[in-house]
Amino acid sequence: MYLLNKKILVFVFGLILIIAIAYYLSVSFNDKNDIQIPKETIQIQKNHSEKKDSLDLFFSFLEYYELEEGDTFISTLKKTNLNNREIDQLITAARDVMNINQLRIGTRIEIISDLIKEERIVKEIVIYPDSEENISVLRINDKFTVRKDIKTLYSELVFHEIEIDKSIYSSLKNINVPDNIIMSFVKLFSFDIDFQRDIRNKNKINILFEQFKDKDGELVKTGSIFFAEIILTKDSYELYKFEENNYIEYFNSEGKSATKALMKTPINGARLSSAYGMRKHPILGYNKKHMGVDFAAPIGTPIMAAGTGHIEYVGTNGGAGKYIRIKHLNGYKTSYSHLSGYASGIQKNVRVRQGQTIGYVGSTGLSTGPHLHYEVIFNGEKINPMKMKLPSGKKLKGMNLNNFLTERDRINNEISKIKN
Ligand SMILES: [Zn+2]
Repeated sequence: MYLLNKKILVFVFGLILIIAIAYYLSVSFNDKNDIQIPKETIQIQKNHSEKKDSLDLFFSFLEYYELEEGDTFISTLKKTNLNNREIDQLITAARDVMNINQLRIGTRIEIISDLIKEERIVKEIVIYPDSEENISVLRINDKFTVRKDIKTLYSELVFHEIEIDKSIYSSLKNINVPDNIIMSFVKLFSFDIDFQRDIRNKNKINILFEQFKDKDGELVKTGSIFFAEIILTKDSYELYKFEENNYIEYFNSEGKSATKALMKTPINGARLSSAYGMRKHPILGYNKKHMGVDFAAPIGTPIMAAGTGHIEYVGTNGGAGKYIRIKHLNGYKTSYSHLSGYASGIQKNVRVRQGQTIGYVGSTGLSTGPHLHYEVIFNGEKINPMKMKLPSGKKLKGMNLNNFLTERDRINNEISKIKN
């Protein structure tokens, strides 16, 4: 028994040795003759991941970093055994295909090294700036060469027809609809439907959306919603996606827009804590007309732009603390006070879309606790957001209407194809 085991051991060991030699030869061969390292080679290296201190004659391993706050591409490279000259060469090569100073937090960087006689030599660095591409910097004949791989994505239309059970969110979540699609779905109807009061169990939802998979069938990203419908006990609301001049909007089957001018509640899941009108000011102590509405919400809750427009003011503004004001169309402005911070990219004159996150709930300025103080200003006068008569969305006309109706029929066709 013992002898047999020993024979097997010798055999296996021999086999490993042969594979290692063959592998070594193929890698050296590639080094000299071919820029493209075959994918298989990379696979083999990846299988050796994280075995760092092996003393084998030849070994390669993979280590990876995910960029954290304060990390840079260069600081990550400095964690390897590359010398400064090599780091410079590598950066010069990488700069050709990407902006190395604009990698976002969480970007994965893989470093593949060979270990030859205990000396570690970095062979390849792979950067994954987003889910669709990866950038490889390969060491070939002691020089770094860069290669960019873009994944081929395959579009897929997904249609669901379901009954609501408990909430829209949980019903869609149960059938694995991605979160961002669910959020978009909810947002689409947030001007028309009161999700707390209008929705009953057994009400229905229809949704058609696009998603993208890679060649292995892995979901890489979601696209947009093409059709969304909520069938309530009495009413039903349906919306079709329509794109004009690179701007996506949703319309009902007659071509009327879903988007109203301004949202009454530019925050999700908040409680109205102080209404518009006369009240005793909680800090100043005297009676004063409350010229906006307050929504109590935890610090950090995202605040949305109530309507499309331009940022007119962003910065500290006395008792309002951190403050944003947006100028919309038709004489409307909205303001947001006591924020804890601003969303990235929110600057004066920047255009914002309705529903886009502009900042986060805080308690800065004259404030007794975390809340959003929201004001709507019409022609210079503060008005009660809860009572405002919202201008209804636009109605498509002429050519645009014809184009929309064609698109609507195409979408309906897609749905009946999927259903049958
Ligand atoms: Zn207030």
